Amino acid sequence: MARILWFRRDLRIHDNPALVAATEAAYADGDGVVIPVVLIDPSLWPTWGAAKQAYLVDSLKSLDASLGDNLLIQHGRAQDVIPAIAKQFDVSGVHYASDFSEYGIKRDGEIAQSLELLGIEFIATGSGYAVAPGRVTKDDGTFYKVYTPFYKMWMKHGWRAPAADPQVWPTWATPDTRHGYPERPDTGNIVIPPAGEAAALERFEWFLDNAVDDYRDNRNIPSIDGTSRLSIALKWGEVHPRTLLARLNDSPGQETFRKEIAWREFYADVAFNRQDTIEGYFNPLYTQMRYDTGAAADEKFAAWCDGRTGFPFVDAGMRQLKAEGWMHNRVRMVVASFLIKDLHLEWTRGAKYFFDMLLDGDLASNSHGWQWTAGCGTDASPYYRVFNPIGQGEKFDPTGEYIRKFVPELAHLSNKDIHQPWAVLGGLDHGYPAPIVDHAVERQEALARLAELPKGAQKPPYPATD
Ligand SMILES: Cc1cc2nc3c(=O)[nH]c(=O)nc-3n(C[C@H](O)[C@H](O)[C@H](O)COP(=O)(O)OP(=O)(O)OC[C@H]3O[C@@H](n4cnc5c(N)ncnc54)[C@H](O)[C@@H]3O)c2cc1C
Repeated sequence: MARILWFRRDLRIHDNPALVAATEAAYADGDGVVIPVVLIDPSLWPTWGAAKQAYLVDSLKSLDASLGDNLLIQHGRAQDVIPAIAKQFDVSGVHYASDFSEYGIKRDGEIAQSLELLGIEFIATGSGYAVAPGRVTKDDGTFYKVYTPFYKMWMKHGWRAPAADPQVWPTWATPDTRHGYPERPDTGNIVIPPAGEAAALERFEWFLDNAVDDYRDNRNIPSIDGTSRLSIALKWGEVHPRTLLARLNDSPGQETFRKEIAWREFYADVAFNRQDTIEGYFNPLYTQMRYDTGAAADEKFAAWCDGRTGFPFVDAGMRQLKAEGWMHNRVRMVVASFLIKDLHLEWTRGAKYFFDMLLDGDLASNSHGWQWTAGCGTDASPYYRVFNPIGQGEKFDPTGEYIRKFVPELAHLSNKDIHQPWAVLGGLDHGYPAPIVDHAVERQEALARLAELPKGAQKPPYPATD
């Protein structure tokens, strides 16, 4: 009897423990046949932007090629499709890697019940993390709410070596000749990065050879290609974080990189323990923060999304998001701060837009990245720390190269003037808008709203950290 290997957020064949388990079980059964399956949920697919859809189609094609063109793509609700095809193909077991989201846990529980009734095994092996969420705990068994002690315990806990490839690969088989690829939409000018496992591993090698040694210094400069850009591959499981960690030594650049991977693991752990924080506040006191709504707020939100706030560094970031489905981390922090503290819009609004647009959109990292900025998350950046959108550009894009790339209307300005085009003669001549708010005024407004929060939220006196 064959086995099904259900690929979810693990679109790779190497360092894939579920694949190894399915293979071993298939040979134990006798014939070594594994049916590789991917599901497209029709209730989710249309909600994705064109870039995400196109990227996933590319990634599936890459996976399919490594499976000898045998990937079976099914469309439907997993709770209906998985038991149905398991029965139809008369398999003895369905293999998969664990999912730790509230939705995923519930879905997998329902499928387990249906398969049990059919006498078919449902076997989870591995996860998309070096250390599965829920494993790193304090001595009293509770989860860490602050990153640094989590990191220390995560390091102490350690993780397995990358899973070796099966000694003998299975016989991949598709009992259905229709592959069922969803249509790859036209993405216009959006640059879709190379997708799939081979591309991710190639990028990692490039990063190790060319960028990791300077990563600690360069990772904050968005005009430099100085970060791994592996967040998209990690999100879709085209590479396992353990594969990356296994190659790192303790040099400053490599250690900093390991610490960033650990942020992803930390946020996944917090989200697993507090599933409510994907959409809700980690610190509930901040639910009382006064945010703007209504037509004027909607207009500001639209300007932010479109990259026409009149603040060049912010607009460059928002335009990078539209152009590439990705944004540099430093700029993510600045645009998030701007939405919350200059425009006084609720963080959930920005988080939703990010999640829809980002090819690496990950519920845990995204919601907690936003909550960090909004002051209501773990390790919360002090709310009174209002990023100065001009100063951040001057500091992290001193030559204006990043701004020039994404905001060509400002390309004619000098390295200095490009950060405040409204202040120079001819600065707005090429259609770039004037600032939609006065940062100094809005900073005071943000601090005034903070002061309204009940006891327990961060309170004045506020240092001048602007
Ligand atoms: C408001 C906001 C929203 C964010 N939303 C997401 C998201 O939806 N998905 C996502 O993967 N990251 C998110 N991040 C974190 C971070 O911006 C990206 O992981 C990073 O920019 C990806 O680029 P990279 O792969 O070149 O990162 P590198 O600098 O090369 O880092 C290596 C890896 O470490 C992890 N990592 C790095 N920084 C963080 C971080 N702050 N939090 C969690 N993991 C981190 C990522 O997996 C990343 O690929 C968000 C950050 C902010 C401030």
